[in-house]
Parts: sequence; structure tokens; C-alpha cells
Amino acid sequence: MDADLLRHILKTTRFSDSLVQLHFHGESLLHPQLGEMISLCKDAGLNVGLSTNASLLDERRSRILIESKLDTLVLAFDGVSKEIFEKYRKNSKYERVKENILRFLDIKESMGAVTPFTDLHVIKIAEAAPLIDSFVGFWKDTPVDQITVKSFSTRAGQVDETQALKKDWYFGRRSERHPCRWFWSSVIILWDGRIVPCCHDMQGKIIIGNIKDNTLEEIWNNAKMQALRKAEIEGRHASICENCSEWYGTPPGLFGFVSSAVIERFKRMVGSEHSNHPQIFDVRYRRNGLPTNTANVPFSAD
Ligand code: SF4
Repeated sequence: MDADLLRHILKTTRFSDSLVQLHFHGESLLHPQLGEMISLCKDAGLNVGLSTNASLLDERRSRILIESKLDTLVLAFDGVSKEIFEKYRKNSKYERVKENILRFLDIKESMGAVTPFTDLHVIKIAEAAPLIDSFVGFWKDTPVDQITVKSFSTRAGQVDETQALKKDWYFGRRSERHPCRWFWSSVIILWDGRIVPCCHDMQGKIIIGNIKDNTLEEIWNNAKMQALRKAEIEGRHASICENCSEWYGTPPGLFGFVSSAVIERFKRMVGSEHSNHPQIFDVRYRRNGLPTNTANVPFSAD
């Protein structure tokens, strides 16, 4: 996305939530106007988050992220070991990425900066699970602000390679299907202004509008979006949702919501593994003294 399109979005959008995330499934650190894009959002009063795999997090980009006053930086590292990291992060070098993250944390400390809040992510796949405690043990002795163990996602079953990694897959242990809340909670604006309703729609299969043609408010309420919501409630799922086991929601209506919450609480009390409210993010460490309402980025780009 270029800066002019972002300016247009900021000018025409009435934000009901101040959190915006400047990433999708690409790598935002490749953007030549990275600092300008963050500053534009900050000047509009927004709370800005960004997720990176840190492979390009050199000294120059580290300073850009800090100086532009980014609020939250997710470091999607997954480096529980060199072997596992390089097996899944093709063409990335474990030592280099680890060094990038440590250098970023050093620079932030030396600048006396409070932001960005740094949230180090590791995805829990079966192979990595036994090493996660030692990963957390190492990183909690660094200036990182938070360490989060993230559930594995198949991205709505669209990526063949992910199917082989489903072991210990949190979402897979559910049998019921309720309307997915993503249709009511957020949208993604792609680089060229097209809008998709879900973060799993990596290839723009369901386009609900284009921010160049209509405001976000108009698109959020347009006939296509309303039809998608109605179909989702009635169990006629959109193409991208058909094979998705990563839906996230409760039965419709207040009674459905409350009864579902009570049942889930009971299941957790008795230690049941069958949950309809999967804990996607398990915060394993937070630096002492940091407020619990610190800006957070609800999903990372992996
Ligand atoms: S069902 Fe899956 S693909 Fe569809 S909106 Fe929900 S999370 Fe996205």
C-alpha cells in the first residue's frame, strides 16, 4: 500500500476502535515508507501495531520503528531451536534473526524508549512444544516485554503443508460450529484498497469492496457484507469458511453467548480439552510493572 492510499483511508474512515495493524501476510519491514506509514497513523491518533518475522530487522529499521512511535511490535520468531526454525522458516538463518531481535531490544533500551511494546511469539507445533519452556526461560532474561505462545493455524485449511502440522492443534478438538465472529469484528484492507472480511483470506477470495470507491463504513454495512453475515448465521458458509475449523464464536443471541460462557468455564474447571473458545494466545511472560492494558496486537502474520 502506498502512503497516498493510507492518507485516503485515514481521511475517510471513522474508527470505532483505535487499533490498526500495519501488516497482513507479507513482511511490512520491506516497505520503503515504513516510518512514514506508522507516523501517518500515529498523527491520526491511532494505536499502531505491526508484526514482523524479524529477518530484516537491522539497525536502521529498528530505529525507524522506535522513532516513529510504533505502539506494539510482534516478533514472530518461533526460534525454539536452530533445527526447527530453519526447517520451517525457509532461507532464514536462526542466529541472524535472534541477533536482530536482541539488537533491537538493546537499541530500544539505549534510547530509553518505552514503545514499541515488544511481544515475542512462538507457535506451538508438536515438534516445538517440548522446547517452549526453555525458549521462554531464555527470552524472559532479555528486555522483551511479553512472550506469547500462539496456537497453530492452518489458515482455514488452505495451505497443504499446514495439514501435516495439525497434531496438538487447538482448534481441531471442536465438534460444534457457531457463527464466526470475524464477520462482525474486523476487516482487512489489502495493499491495493480491496477489502476482505477475514485474516485467513490471503488471496482476496471474498472481496466486499474497495476503499478507493467507498468509505469503510459504507463497505462494512453494504449488501455483500450483510449477506455474508446472514449466510454465516444460517450455516451457509462462504467458500473460504467451508473448510475452516478455526472459526471463533458463540451461539447467536444473548442466551447463547451467556450459556456458552458458563459451559466453557465449567469445562476449564474440570480440565476438559474440548473447548469452543480456544485460547489462541497464551501469554507466558509479561515484564514486571507493565500495565495489563498495554496495546496488543491480536494476531501476528506468522
Ligand atoms: S470461519 Fe474461518 S475463514 Fe471464515 S471468517 Fe471465520 S475464521 Fe475466517
